[in-house]
Amino acid sequence: ENQLSANNNALTARKQVETASQRLEREFTLSTAMLHNLVKAFIRDMERGLKREGAVMKMIPSYVVRRPTGEEKGTYLALDLGGSNFRVCEVTLKGKGQVRSRQKKFVVSEELKNGTAVALFDFFADCVAQTMEEYNIDKQASLKMGFTFSFPVNQQGLNKGTLYHWTKGFTTSGVVGVDAVQLLQDAFVRKNLKINVTALVNDTVGTLISHAYVDTATIMGVILGTGTNAAYVEKIENITKWTGPKPATGEMIVNMEWGAWGQDGIILPTTEYDVKVDRASPNPQKQSYEKMISGLYLGELVRYVIVDLISTGQLFAGSRCEALEKEHSFDTAHMSRIERDHSMELTDTRSIFEDLYGVKKTTLSDRRLVKRICELVGTRAARLAAIGVASVITKTNKLDGATVAVDGSVFEHYPHFANRMRDALRELLGINADNIVLAQARDGSGQGAALIAALADNGDEKF
Ligand code: BGC
Ligand code: MG
Repeated sequence: ENQLSANNNALTARKQVETASQRLEREFTLSTAMLHNLVKAFIRDMERGLKREGAVMKMIPSYVVRRPTGEEKGTYLALDLGGSNFRVCEVTLKGKGQVRSRQKKFVVSEELKNGTAVALFDFFADCVAQTMEEYNIDKQASLKMGFTFSFPVNQQGLNKGTLYHWTKGFTTSGVVGVDAVQLLQDAFVRKNLKINVTALVNDTVGTLISHAYVDTATIMGVILGTGTNAAYVEKIENITKWTGPKPATGEMIVNMEWGAWGQDGIILPTTEYDVKVDRASPNPQKQSYEKMISGLYLGELVRYVIVDLISTGQLFAGSRCEALEKEHSFDTAHMSRIERDHSMELTDTRSIFEDLYGVKKTTLSDRRLVKRICELVGTRAARLAAIGVASVITKTNKLDGATVAVDGSVFEHYPHFANRMRDALRELLGINADNIVLAQARDGSGQGAALIAALADNGDEKF
């Protein structure tokens, strides 16, 4: 009794003297032991998804049953709808792993993201028409197209699939439950385009396939960008829920939809700030893992921490900053800048807050604290992403070597992200981690869709 209450008193005392940064440190740090436990839970949830429909991690069979040999040839179109960008690509496969591609980038306005299916898909068709004109592609020739649609899709065939639900801030009406290829094909008819959409592809699958064209050791594609997800090559007999014909290759790529992991609320160590980000999102209690890792949310997490510390007087002398109180007003790119700020006085950090956000005065210790917050949130994201990679590598027995193709703005541009992932992989896999190559992939999702359209052309298995 006495011992217990003495302990409790000590604990309370410690909490009272705990500084803001010590508290955040405690709340955001994932120890090696925690990583190991999370990998166990992750693999268990992968297995659940492979077994049955309706699991948290959907583990969607992609209908892609072969990897490219590098010898595929031909010219294909590709559409790539990601999180922040929309691209139209013309991809020419030249064999020997060589690809030539041209692409035009378009911005999908907030209005379109939150409008109707017809408006959104008409916009896609208009962008295609515009690109074909600019590239002098004959509009009467019936070209084949791969469509990269980077959302959870209930895949029903290589070029057929319905959206389960939107992610990454989209709320467009009339798309959930409808075949995305049909929506696109209908828009092409309205715009007099003779294109034939022969593949519907997740960006992770496209990234895996396009990297496999140049490196046949590639077994996994990961996106760490606006959203996050991964796809990997699984043995068909391990996809026990698969009831279709067995492909001759004996394997199929699985779109994991790992961003949904943890949405049952038990496993992931969430902070009060994670709860705030989740509640303010258009998809509460969905995509929990994604909301701790990806670019749409990292800046938002940091913003909530900063606003909280201002309100308790622990930052900026407690003086309110209205510009920071608006949702999504603090971009993840600012975190990158702050983490890159190695000046003695943290001058770039100062200019972000004093010039951009109009904070009257920041002290050096304010700026150090903000930088520490970014490090904690950014490091947690990288270590969580490593959990997914380590789980797939472990489950597929690839500890002796594999290439993981990774694309996305967070992996590419966020300072130290890749190294922090590698550190966590080493803690999890020991020296075997050195056999795992995290390869930076770029623009793979569009090229991958074109490749899959090409594979479909050559394939003898028809699903
Ligand atoms: C989507 C995935 C996609 C990922 C990366 C997630 O929000 O659910 O389908 O692969 O973002 O773009
Ligand atoms: Mg993308």
